[in-house]
Amino acid sequence: MSIEKKYHTAINDLIIHLKNSKFLTDTRVESALRNIPRHKFVPESELDYAYNNEPLPLMKNQTISQPGVVTRMTEWLDVREGQKILEIGTGSGWQSAILSYLVGKGDVYSVERHPELAKFAQENLKKLNIDNVHVVLGDGSVGYPDESPYDRIIITAACTEIPLPLIDQLDEGGLILAPVGDSSQSLVLLQKTSKGMIEIKNQSKYVFVPLHGKFGKK
Ligand code: SAM
Repeated sequence: MSIEKKYHTAINDLIIHLKNSKFLTDTRVESALRNIPRHKFVPESELDYAYNNEPLPLMKNQTISQPGVVTRMTEWLDVREGQKILEIGTGSGWQSAILSYLVGKGDVYSVERHPELAKFAQENLKKLNIDNVHVVLGDGSVGYPDESPYDRIIITAACTEIPLPLIDQLDEGGLILAPVGDSSQSLVLLQKTSKGMIEIKNQSKYVFVPLHGKFGKK
């Protein structure tokens, strides 16, 4: 079997699994998963496992998140064409690339603290000719005020509480999604309204690597 055929079959199998387990319900997100192949974002040593529904190791003891979790977070974020998105924790760039597909002519700003990972993500994005993801090297716990306000903010590392600067950088009506908690986290989706922040969704039992930095883990 050719390599491309092998991956095509593996993507199909993963998509069937994600649909059966109700992690994948949105056809736009399905299209993003098909068009942004995960095997382009995993280290060479992990290629055989690219379509297993599990997190995989990256450099600096970090991980590319599990496809089921990336799918759920992407669906909850309810991304629309033309939006401006801030992601904290670029890692491999896979989640950024999925968001970039969904915003179309919009933009994704993604902040990563490890230079090795920022470079790895930029290389992966370049190979797919993705030019609307802007990888920023720095401490994402303070956000990226230069391009604020954002329509959507997604944090892909565990935080004890959602950093206040990120709430400040969210536009009114916008959504922010983060794994919140210590050893185990809840995925929390909040909306900014004229009356303050309201919780839209909350689901427990997720595990992410920690968010570090000024407003991250001490
Ligand atoms: N979204 C990534 C992907 O698609 O591969 C996976 C992200 S990984 C679970 C979490 C990432 O958050 C790691 O790359 C880690 O270095 C990064 N991180 C942790 N604290 C950070 C901070 N304060 N600022 C920026 N990045 C941070």
